[in-house]
Amino acid sequence: QPPQTIAIDPSVRELFPPEVLAERLEDVPVSFETLPEDAAPGEYDALVTFEYRENLLAADPDWVHCVLAGVDTFPLGDLEARSVALTNSTGIHGDAVGETVLGYMLQFARRLHDHRDAEATREWEYPDWNVPFTLRGETVCVVGLGTLGRGVATRADAIGMDVVGVRRTPVPVEHVDELYAPDALDAAVSDARFVVLTVPLTERTRGLVGADELSAMSEDAYLVNVARGRVVDQDALVEELRAGGLAGAALDVTDPEPLPDDSPLWEMDEVVVTPHAAAATRDYVDRVAAIVRENCRRLEADEALANRVV
Ligand code: NDP
Repeated sequence: QPPQTIAIDPSVRELFPPEVLAERLEDVPVSFETLPEDAAPGEYDALVTFEYRENLLAADPDWVHCVLAGVDTFPLGDLEARSVALTNSTGIHGDAVGETVLGYMLQFARRLHDHRDAEATREWEYPDWNVPFTLRGETVCVVGLGTLGRGVATRADAIGMDVVGVRRTPVPVEHVDELYAPDALDAAVSDARFVVLTVPLTERTRGLVGADELSAMSEDAYLVNVARGRVVDQDALVEELRAGGLAGAALDVTDPEPLPDDSPLWEMDEVVVTPHAAAATRDYVDRVAAIVRENCRRLEADEALANRVV
């Protein structure tokens, strides 16, 4: 059934103004309605939203589109039982997240965070001779080789890094020199200077990186998490960093979010915390609009939805 009315939930404001998305979809022959902030749910056939909320299903929509790639907050079983189709926004974040991860790695290697910190007190300070390094010739292990992982691998390869990766499917990926299965994670991370997490949060990946995996990493290695906070055992990470078992970390995602004021991670010089912003780009709204537009076309043509999760 092609939808007649698609509601846009105000929660998308986390990423872009709802009315801009509606404007970008003006060419689609469906009525788009931006829901008010305190939405008593109205009548709609489909919904575009950032997050899941109980009352969003009260209108009994046939289709819900999530503007994120990660749908870990959605009750997948419930949606399936109610025959609500759920689609996500995977496929659109490779450039933005790939560039952000390259930025984290360059920052640590080239000590840019030290210089920015020193600037605050107008200090002119050359780094210790044996601390800075170049990314060329270093190894990065990319855990998860979908849109995000490939975005990282492509850029790491381009800058001259050796790239190893982890995925479930034993099929090679361009720009990845060596592939490991998920149960060989310890071996995959052991020689890497950077370990980058780009997996979805699922039953299988919750706590994927705990004390054992962190100690399998080398003492001069950095952990980069752009997946979801709960993929890492955050307490174990803090301990490992305090004990000097790791060189540092870049965390775009934490558990919980926002990272609480009293988290020791805020104070660590070799930890960079970013506010779940690795994918931020002014093009985000256009990319989401393209998925919604394509799925409206498919529903009209009675074709299967793109990016369908449930
Ligand atoms: P994709 O579905 O394109 O890729 C997921 C990859 O993870 C696939 O390569 C898959 O393997 C692999 N994978 C799944 N389970 C495991 C496992 N148990 N062990 C090893 N690898 C596994 O997703 P995206 O790249 O689009 O997004 C990934 C996640 O990143 C999202 O779910 C979201 O949580 C997060 N994200 C964060 C953003 C941010 O702003 N920080 C932005 C966008 C996404 P296979 O190839 O074999 O199927």
